[in-house]
Amino acid sequence: MYSDKDGIFDHQNANDNPVRSSSASAMYAKAFAINPAAIGIVCLDNGLIVDVNETWQETFQCSRAGAIGRSALELQLWPSSEIRGQYLEELHRIGSFRNREYTVLRKSGESFTALCSAELMELQGEKFIVSTWLDISDRKRTEEYLKRNESLLSESQRIGHIGSWSREIGAKDIQWSDETYRIYGQDPATFHPTLALFVALIVPEDRALMKDFIRACEKGENPGEIEFRIMRPDGTVRILYGRGGLEVACDGKPLRILGMVQDISERKQAERAARESESRYRLIAENAADVIWVLDLETQRFKYVSPSVAKLRGYSPEEVMAQPVDMALTPESLKRVQELLALWIPQFIADPSIPGFATTEVDQPCKDGSIVCTEVTTNAVMSERGQVEIIGVSRDITERKRANEERARLSAQLQQAQKMESVGRLAGGVAHDFNNMLSVILGNVEIALAQTNTEPSLSICLEEIQKAGRRSANLTRQLLAFARKQAITPSIVDLNEAVSGFTKMLRRLIGENIVMEWKPSQDLWLVEIDPSQIDQILANLAVNARDAIAGIGTLTIETANIELDDKHQALGSGFVPGDYVQLSISDTGSGMDNETLKHIFEPFFTTKEIGKGTGLGLATVYGIVKQNNGYIDVCSQPGNGTQFEIYLPRFVGMIHPVSEENILEPPLDNPAKVLVVEDEPTVLTLATTMLEKLGYTALSATSAQDAISLLAHYPGNIDILLTDVIMPGMNGRELARRLLSDHPNLKCVFMSGWTADILESEGVIGPGIHFLQKPFTSDQLSSVLQNARRD
Ligand code: ADP
Ligand code: MG
Repeated sequence: MYSDKDGIFDHQNANDNPVRSSSASAMYAKAFAINPAAIGIVCLDNGLIVDVNETWQETFQCSRAGAIGRSALELQLWPSSEIRGQYLEELHRIGSFRNREYTVLRKSGESFTALCSAELMELQGEKFIVSTWLDISDRKRTEEYLKRNESLLSESQRIGHIGSWSREIGAKDIQWSDETYRIYGQDPATFHPTLALFVALIVPEDRALMKDFIRACEKGENPGEIEFRIMRPDGTVRILYGRGGLEVACDGKPLRILGMVQDISERKQAERAARESESRYRLIAENAADVIWVLDLETQRFKYVSPSVAKLRGYSPEEVMAQPVDMALTPESLKRVQELLALWIPQFIADPSIPGFATTEVDQPCKDGSIVCTEVTTNAVMSERGQVEIIGVSRDITERKRANEERARLSAQLQQAQKMESVGRLAGGVAHDFNNMLSVILGNVEIALAQTNTEPSLSICLEEIQKAGRRSANLTRQLLAFARKQAITPSIVDLNEAVSGFTKMLRRLIGENIVMEWKPSQDLWLVEIDPSQIDQILANLAVNARDAIAGIGTLTIETANIELDDKHQALGSGFVPGDYVQLSISDTGSGMDNETLKHIFEPFFTTKEIGKGTGLGLATVYGIVKQNNGYIDVCSQPGNGTQFEIYLPRFVGMIHPVSEENILEPPLDNPAKVLVVEDEPTVLTLATTMLEKLGYTALSATSAQDAISLLAHYPGNIDILLTDVIMPGMNGRELARRLLSDHPNLKCVFMSGWTADILESEGVIGPGIHFLQKPFTSDQLSSVLQNARRD
């Protein structure tokens, strides 16, 4: 029995022990000592440790001296006596075993897993247990670690939809991870990928690409990444993304190629949709008439500006993006927009769901220095970097604004024109009736004055009546002029000549304190106007200038040729662009305020004291200008004088020599018979009385019907028909036509207090027609009758 504390292999005194007598046993003893496995020898009878080797001492952290002669149980190397019991029982039963796992303890109490092989041995009648113990806790840990890692990898592959694959160099088979199987839609139980089978899964167009990729992997080149399409067994095509490379051993020998694969079909589809949507929106933006832009508030620069900005402002989008945003607005608009932003951006940052500051109007400078007015609609968005961006649409509303202003101006003008029209109608109507009455008054006064036996005192009264009557006739004439209803005889006139001829008269009108400057322009175009109307215009404007100049001053009259285009629409409703002759009359007088300017052309508007002004001067000028299809404009400020511009259309027709109509000839001797037709009895009486005084035989009728039946029954010849134009029933023109068919030699003279335009439209006024404007004097009557008889 070995109770030797030195154990059975006494390394120090090997020669004293019979067991160690042979050299073989010395060798075994050495093998025992240096064995990398922990070896222990236990006496079966008493369970005491007989010997342990180096590794055993290290493994169990127990010295040989401390171990020999003690039992493992005593040394607390077993976690429990039950486990030790099982171990011994097993050994008894089968005598030996190999590689059983036991959890045992080191001396320190730390447990570890050991792989144990043990055998019962008999030596010189004694039984021993020889056991080897391999500490496999590290391996165990590594195994567990690897297992955990593997499951982690496979789980992350599943979650990330990333599969992996590998192929040994030269091998046919490819190893796929679970996720790779899922990506390819294949069943791991039935599908065993080889290179050929794998390539067959790829859509034919992408196979060459894949082959190149694999070749590069095998050569150890960097194959980069690959995008390819595969077809799954269910027929669906997926887009995959792959990377791969060569794995080499430490000695540089290639081991295998491996890589990853990912299904990017959804991402690709989303990318394509995003690209399509982006190109759609880009197309909309690039082709929009409005300017679409994105502004980065932080850098104060435009990130995008659509090409239409070039049309709007003359700058290219690149130029605008290179400029600071301030340059996109006029200083006033910039200030307003900054105020708006200061209010709105903090609100937006606090709650990005609030809508953008809807719409505002701004002025923007253009490259050529002009200004465009745009309507801007904006919206704020938070960029990916968390910065506020403003997306806006700018619409050119310059034209719309101009049109609105133009509409407002035209409507005001129309109102003014309508007012002038109705006032004109009223004035015209009154003047017409008044004219008839004045004819009677003046005619009768003339007859009365012609009576040789008139009382001298009565004559004075009659002359006063005549003067007042003539003044009234003058006033009436002005009213008719305003109502554009003067009977006029337009002729082709050189305005320079017409003005020059009147300057003497004007000088007299304005007096010595006012200097008159007359600046005729060279080669002035001709106009068609009744020259007496030019006199009326000049006289009225000159008198007003005189009244406006306190003390000394200047009246300037100028002429010029001028071409008026659409920009001059403001001159009046129904403005016709074209060539005009401009007549300017300006003074250095008091000028006018806006309120006065609004009313100056209205008849009877005057700021002058009673008795000084009639308020008919400018109304007359206005009427004359309108009657001649011209325009009048006035420019004045209190204290800065006044300038009137009159534009008369250029005459562009043929010029006929002026007929010398008004040359009076001595009355013809043989008395003629005149039929007077007039519905107004007083005028009728007046006319017949005058005719008789002039030596004519007068017959009278109060209507066209009367005249026709009178002539039908009249035994003798009638030489002249003197008829009113406008009469109830039948007008004068029609009457003349009827009578002329039976009496072709009848001479016709028309008289009227009515207005030029109506008479023109009736075809009464025109060349070869004898016309007598009411009220008339007997001289005028005589002259027109003589002219008629001479025809
Ligand atoms: P009247 O001269 O009889 O007042 P008008 O029709 O000629 O009537 O003029 C109307 C008003 O227009 C004048 O009362 C005056 O207030 C103003 N006016 C006209 N011409 C001038 C002028 N050249 N300078 C200042 N005011 C003027
Ligand atoms: Mg006046």
